[in-house]
Amino acid sequence: MRIATITNFAYVATVVLTLTSGVALFLASNAERAERAAVAQNRVFDSLTDDLEKEAYALTDLAREAVIKKQPEAIQSWKTREEQDVALENHLIALHDNGASDAEILILRDGIATLDQLEDEQRIAIANMEAGKVSEAMDLLFSANYEERLSETEYRFAHFRSLADQRTQTVINEATERSLRLRTLSEIMVGLTAVLFLFVLGFIIKHRILRPVVTLSDVVNRLATQDYAVEAPVLAQVDEIGDMAQAIRVFRENGLARQRLEQERDAEWGTRTLLARMTQRLQGCDSHSAIIKVVSRFAPQIIPDMGGRLYLLDKRTGRMKCAARWGLPPGEDPAFSPDSCWALKRGQLHSPSKDAVDMPCEHISPEIAPRAICVPLNAQNKSIGLLTFDNYTPDKEPPYIYLELLAETLALALANQILRDTLTEKATFDSLTGLRNRHSLDETLRSMIDQAMVEGTMLSCLMVDVDYFKRLNDLHGHEAGDKVLRELSRLITDVLDDKGLAFRYGGEEFLLILPDTNESQAMSVAQTLLDTVLNHLMLYESQDIGPVSVSIGLATWPRHARADNLVRAADLALYLAKEQGRGQIVVARNADNHRTE
Ligand code: GH3
Ligand code: MG
Ligand code: MG
Repeated sequence: MRIATITNFAYVATVVLTLTSGVALFLASNAERAERAAVAQNRVFDSLTDDLEKEAYALTDLAREAVIKKQPEAIQSWKTREEQDVALENHLIALHDNGASDAEILILRDGIATLDQLEDEQRIAIANMEAGKVSEAMDLLFSANYEERLSETEYRFAHFRSLADQRTQTVINEATERSLRLRTLSEIMVGLTAVLFLFVLGFIIKHRILRPVVTLSDVVNRLATQDYAVEAPVLAQVDEIGDMAQAIRVFRENGLARQRLEQERDAEWGTRTLLARMTQRLQGCDSHSAIIKVVSRFAPQIIPDMGGRLYLLDKRTGRMKCAARWGLPPGEDPAFSPDSCWALKRGQLHSPSKDAVDMPCEHISPEIAPRAICVPLNAQNKSIGLLTFDNYTPDKEPPYIYLELLAETLALALANQILRDTLTEKATFDSLTGLRNRHSLDETLRSMIDQAMVEGTMLSCLMVDVDYFKRLNDLHGHEAGDKVLRELSRLITDVLDDKGLAFRYGGEEFLLILPDTNESQAMSVAQTLLDTVLNHLMLYESQDIGPVSVSIGLATWPRHARADNLVRAADLALYLAKEQGRGQIVVARNADNHRTE
């Protein structure tokens, strides 16, 4: 129930109770007034009847005195008194209907009638006395009959007084009782009003003061401990407590805003720290796979509300190929053409959800497109990869600045790695044939011999040289010679398959290292190569410039050489093959033979 309803109800009840109490008090005082009136009336009746009673005796005495003394003064005294008595009677008669009951009035009338009879007899006696009939007058006034009537008069007035007293007592009792009842009623009403007042006061204090104050105090305590999750109560009351609640609400909102700012600042600081750490770790990477591992580890922490994919440009197919994914449900990530991505086409971040109307990328499924963000990985004005994000909180402004920072850092690391890979490739591989060059030969050969020593296996080496290559150059030109070198490299790779490694040792010389291969197995490879080259149709600009033959020197460790002169042994064998007419395989002489020479 609303407090206003309760206070209205209490107000009406208080007014009703107060009015009732007032009316009861008024009626009680009326009853007391009636009681006082009854007492006063009774006193009047008492006094008048008493006077009449006394008058009866006084007149009797005066009449008897007049009859005995026969003096005119005595007669005159009686007459004067008798006249007064008539006035008294008249006065009493006038009071007859003033509250007296019929029975009382009857007795009073009887008393007065008896008194009148006595006065009549006194008058007769006086008249008799004046007429000289003194004895008759005496008999009349001193007769037993007269005495009896006198007593009767007294008795009647006494009876009347007794009845009047009884009636008055009854009236007093009733009035007292009524007054008491009404006073009690009035007191109950006043008591009820007080109780109601106290109840309403208590209710209002509890609901309007105590309870809000306790709630506000609790809220203030929690706010003091920076617990801004607490809800500040909304109090509609227009008083100091309402003002206090309003102030606490403002205080809480300010605290929340401050807390939000602090959280944002902390989160920003955390993100920047993560970005800096990721940059440092990327600088320590020496391969694409290491870079991918670093990104997969850091990106979900830097951009926590988004799933992501890293695509790298596959130079062979020219398509963007997924290299890593994080924070996404399992699924396929097919490669796509860079043309299907607006970020790659424009070379800048593309977020269709950012604006009301924009073009979604074709490589992203339509249901994800509204919350997808693509960030290109640009290096030297070229897109070398792409980051795509699936924003799980599209209602929140995405951290574009961090997305771009992440992409820039990553693009730089990838570009560096590409550059390093290119340099390494250039340093390791021959640009014309794609085979390894001599630079890494010594190291590779040493590790292979070490491995063979550990495993107890043999290692063979084939030194291959193109026959009369100078003549071929002279006849068909250097371009044709280059083409032949490339074709030979391809044939060597095919023949070698995964049996070993091939190096471009010099201009038209190739070195093949065959681990875990003995002399006869090496001979088989050499023979296959010899035949394959000889039988290969060597075309340049659709013109047959062949046949081309090669000479091969074969040496096997440990049979033909020590670990440090295996290549030299193969080279010597090749020299012999050239000497013996070219287009053939010569096996190196045994190591013992070398030593004996
Ligand atoms: P032989 O049968 O004795 O090996 O005779 P040859 O002519 O093959 O050997 P020579 O050492 O006399 O000549 C090697 C030639 O290879 C000389 C050089 O012009 C040519 N040459 C070396 N490197 C390249 C290259 O990269 N491209 C081309 N087209 N020719 C090269
Ligand atoms: Mg040659
Ligand atoms: Mg040569």
